[in-house]
Amino acid sequence: MMEAEAAPAAPSTSKPRASSAAPRAAAPADAEAMLCCAQCGVYYPASETVQAKGRDFCSQAHASFP
Ligand SMILES: [Zn+2]
Repeated sequence: MMEAEAAPAAPSTSKPRASSAAPRAAAPADAEAMLCCAQCGVYYPASETVQAKGRDFCSQAHASFP
């Protein structure tokens, strides 16, 4: 009987996960922060905020709302 040569074992390398550690799937990078208007409740980009009386408003009209 011939001794069958051991078949070359396939390299069973478990996939190396040398990727970034922190998974960042929460918010897209370019997602802008949104604020809620204290007057009308609409959501708008934080860059367009109008601050008055210590609150955030969507527009000057709402900021000066009595
Ligand atoms: Zn508003």
